[in-house]
Amino acid sequence: MPHKIRKLDVHLVSTPITGGFADATRKVESVGYVVVRVTTDSGLEGIGITYHEVGGEATCALINRNMAPKLIGRDPLQTEAIWQEFFHYLRGVGRKGLMYCALSAVDIALWDLKGKITGLPLYKLLGGNRTKVPVYSSGGWTSYSDEELVEEMKGMVARGFKTIKFKVGYEGGRNPRRDVQRVRKVREAVGPDINLLVDANNCFDAATAVQLANNIREYDIMLFEEPVFADDIPGLARFKRGTDIPLATGEHEYTKFGVRDLLINDAADIVQVDGARIGGYTEMLKCAAMTEAWNVKFAPHAMENIHLHLAAAIPNALFLERLLMFEDITAKVFKDAPVPVDGYMEVPDLPGLGLELDMDFIREHDETSPLSH
Ligand SMILES: [Mg+2]
Repeated sequence: MPHKIRKLDVHLVSTPITGGFADATRKVESVGYVVVRVTTDSGLEGIGITYHEVGGEATCALINRNMAPKLIGRDPLQTEAIWQEFFHYLRGVGRKGLMYCALSAVDIALWDLKGKITGLPLYKLLGGNRTKVPVYSSGGWTSYSDEELVEEMKGMVARGFKTIKFKVGYEGGRNPRRDVQRVRKVREAVGPDINLLVDANNCFDAATAVQLANNIREYDIMLFEEPVFADDIPGLARFKRGTDIPLATGEHEYTKFGVRDLLINDAADIVQVDGARIGGYTEMLKCAAMTEAWNVKFAPHAMENIHLHLAAAIPNALFLERLLMFEDITAKVFKDAPVPVDGYMEVPDLPGLGLELDMDFIREHDETSPLSH
């Protein structure tokens, strides 16, 4: 007998970000998760997640009002068929953005269910055999003083991370000389054996970004992320030609078509798409295969607990990103979520994603409970 989806529950929890974090292009005021629970007629529950700084309420409404009715009674193993149906159902109102955050959360929940139905951790279902995955620590806002930046980076190293990321684009990208000074201070503080990643969060034009990359090259930078606006694919390609620091981008791409455009335009060395935005596990697997064919690296953006099984199974996966600003809410939303030890996360040897929600916390803080089914 096939399993049937009996109900969907959608929750929204968020947390204000205090301290005035800002990168080169935006201030972060709050972060939140939209949590989807898909329950089958036999009582199995799959969990899926997407996240937001703004717009979580709209994502919840879309899932509740438009997607849930189409899922009730369906076989949750039909991940590909369901994805294709929603792609065509939603394509007229958005092929990037919130539509795909909603689809991602639903798709991830179906994949979690697939693991629970088969009794297999997802990395095993995907054919992987890695049991731990390297993770880097990510923070280092441009709004920090030089001292705050250096302290945070040293703290990451003290926690065992071998790879750390911080922001460039000081004063909105208008002061790249200060970026050079800050990169030098971080390198001097952490020593030569730590991998340094820098992230400009879309702030530069290509010429300025190339100039900055060449000016920080002597500090041994492992990758330079989002040097120009994410949609400036010609600018990304120009950056890549102008420096030998590897170019990382992709957190703002949606679907396989976004990844295709990066690849055919030679606009990335490391593709950083995000399964909680791009369309879930179904779409991540296709994107990963494309990067493998182009012989570039795959390094999912954020959401390390969701991406852990993918990174354990995808051959060209480099590492995962653990954002400091998500650590607090992640620890509250999940019970005993894996945490990095010495820069690695162990893959849970439990069915599906191997994650358990803390429903006491979620129910108590659910911002959209009147909308839930
Ligand atoms: Mg980034």
